[in-house]
Amino acid sequence: MAKYSVPKNGAKIGYQNGKLTVPDNPIIPFFPGDGTGPDIWKATKVVLDAAVEKAYKGKRKIAWMEVFAGLTALQHYDKDTVLPEETVASFKEYRVGLKGPLTTPAGSFKFVCLVCAAELMDRPASCPKCKSEWITPRFRSVNVGLRQKLDLYACVRPVRWFKGVPCPVKAPEKLDIVIFRENTEDIYAGIEFEQGTKECREVYDFITQKMGKKVPFPDSGLGIKPISKTGSQRLIRMAIAYAIAHQKPSVTIVHKGNIQKFTEGAFRDWGYEVAKTEFRDRIVTEAELWDQHGGKMPAGKVLIKDRIADQTFQQLLLRPDEYSVLATTNLNGDYLSDAAVAQVGGLGIGPGANIGDGVAIFEATHGTAPKYTGKDMVNPGSLILSGVMMLEHLGWQEAADLVVKGLEATIQAKTVTYDFERQMTGATKLKCSEFGAAIVKNMGSVAVAA
Ligand code: NAD
Repeated sequence: MAKYSVPKNGAKIGYQNGKLTVPDNPIIPFFPGDGTGPDIWKATKVVLDAAVEKAYKGKRKIAWMEVFAGLTALQHYDKDTVLPEETVASFKEYRVGLKGPLTTPAGSFKFVCLVCAAELMDRPASCPKCKSEWITPRFRSVNVGLRQKLDLYACVRPVRWFKGVPCPVKAPEKLDIVIFRENTEDIYAGIEFEQGTKECREVYDFITQKMGKKVPFPDSGLGIKPISKTGSQRLIRMAIAYAIAHQKPSVTIVHKGNIQKFTEGAFRDWGYEVAKTEFRDRIVTEAELWDQHGGKMPAGKVLIKDRIADQTFQQLLLRPDEYSVLATTNLNGDYLSDAAVAQVGGLGIGPGANIGDGVAIFEATHGTAPKYTGKDMVNPGSLILSGVMMLEHLGWQEAADLVVKGLEATIQAKTVTYDFERQMTGATKLKCSEFGAAIVKNMGSVAVAA
């Protein structure tokens, strides 16, 4: 018997021939997340439900289904379960989900408090910092676990500026990109050996003695970075297909192949291979552009180019309008996505999704911001815009447009949460929930195609 209850008024999303079939009342599993997650979730739900209602006048409605992960999993299952199998199974069965941020312990302590994220060496009855009882042994990231178990191999992050958002650059509107970050391999595969252990020594001996490689210091922790042809090509295939479907001008393969030839360099080579074999009549490579087209891009084609990762950081700052869709390995993509979103105003407003074949989970891209827990204070923009991506994924474009319209109007009216208010002159500070309500008020309405 599942611990979550399936809404009676909803229907399952189907999947046939690589396409979703979406009923008018889709069941969408969600969890609010830890820390400030419940605050941003409440504001987001109000906004998404209002947009759907305004756009479709009751003909369509999301049937939300709460499932459990992180703190709520401890509360509903046992005290050491942060990612129950039935939560994973629910996302697989219902195909489209929305999630808040989750505490992810780092470092060498042994226990973590899921309310305030305190890191502890032993397990007291209550947290010395926030007095909560929700303390659990250190675990590997639930986010990474979800991505791996559901094979959500692409982390997709659109990054663009919304008029009025305070940001650190002069022309933020020039950055309008979508980053496709490989999500399941690279050092995120979790193949690591702790310094000082027998296993680490054995791997060290194998690498140095059997494989003849020099490791600078014998007291090293060791990690393995698998990058496969299968993993690279399916990610780059998704990025190119997206660029073609959305008439984007280019796909840039971002890698560190100058140093790591058989992982990052191979990623680039496999990318060009998939582009040339599977999309031959739809793409032009950068080499072909100059060799065959005199530098003039043929109409209707997507340019495939590649850039070294460190150079890409510079390019996005100095020549942002030369980039559109980016496809990259896991760790590079992690850094690049956060840096890019900072350029247009920060994580509080950066949406994201983890997508596989037939399953997608949309998520806030920032963390749990534990010091603001329960204060109804943080910016719900990231989760709201992830909700916009989700509505677009369902094919509910009219509702998605309404949310964007409401958000833009609210920011332009300078009615914003603390993070933006402190950077704007003459702005009014709103609570998280008030910001959601203001978006609803500012939505207006859209004409919906019959
Ligand atoms: P964080 O993103 O939670 O917060 C860093 C700072 O960014 C906050 O102190 C706050 O000033 C600001 N911030 C974050 N979200 C904001 C919002 N919505 N509105 C306004 N300001 C916001 O990063 P952290 O403190 O490094 O991590 C806290 C916890 O979250 C850790 O356990 C970490 O592992 C986890 N985390 C989870 C995810 C995820 O679930 N996807 C992502 C990143 C971090």
